[in-house]
Parts: sequence; structure tokens; C-alpha cells
Amino acid sequence: MAVARKKSDGGIKAMMDFHCLTESCEGVVKFSLAEITGRDFQAVCPKCHQPYELNADLTDKLKRMLALVKAIGNAEDILGSCNVAVNVAGGSVKIPYALLLTRLNTMITLNLGGQDVDFHLWIKPSSSNTFN
Ligand SMILES: [Zn+2]
Repeated sequence: MAVARKKSDGGIKAMMDFHCLTESCEGVVKFSLAEITGRDFQAVCPKCHQPYELNADLTDKLKRMLALVKAIGNAEDILGSCNVAVNVAGGSVKIPYALLLTRLNTMITLNLGGQDVDFHLWIKPSSSNTFN
């Protein structure tokens, strides 16, 4: 019998959003990265209710993004003590690696229905202590 392993994603949450492509609609379509693995996933604009389906290529990219986010979640305790040294005039500054992941919003440009769309990726660590 296999030993049940502790869930390794650490409960990290990854949300994505993009501006609705409908002309003159100001809606922001939001979805959780974890949702896209479900069959028949559809994101819907909260304002104009335009549905968005992800094609196989996009789903594949986002699935790999999810895997990356889970790996980050799994390494949360390690990343919490890692720093990136940035050289500046007169020395160097240490920036906690986790800050780069959580405080800067990641933007990915992906092709959605023939248009380049900027997706924002928001990562929320499972423990608020880790990345402080
Ligand atoms: Zn809309």
C-alpha cells in the first residue's frame, strides 16, 4: 500500500485575470489557475457575460504555469530564506526572492482567439508569514 503523501502544493493560490475583449466592455475576467484543469472550462466576463474558452495550446501553457506555481508553493519555506542580490551603485541590495514572486504582478501575454491578451497572474502564498 502506498503511503499517503502530504499535499505538496502548500495551498498556494494562483489567480489570473484579463480585460474582456468585447469592445467598450470594462469587465475583468477572473479565474483560478486550478480551475482550468477541469473539463469544459469556461471563463465568463462578469459584465457582458461573454464566455471565453481556452484552446488546447492555451490550456497546456496554463497547466504548465500551474505546475510552476505548485512547485513554488512546495518550495515556499526554501524561497522564504532565499535572496536575490542586485548590484547597485556603492554595493548590492538583497531582495528576498519571495518578494519577486508575490509583490510584483506577473504578466503573461498569450494568444486568445487570434488576439494577444495580457494575462495578470496573482500568486497568494498559503502562509502569510512565509513571504513577509
Ligand atoms: Zn465583457
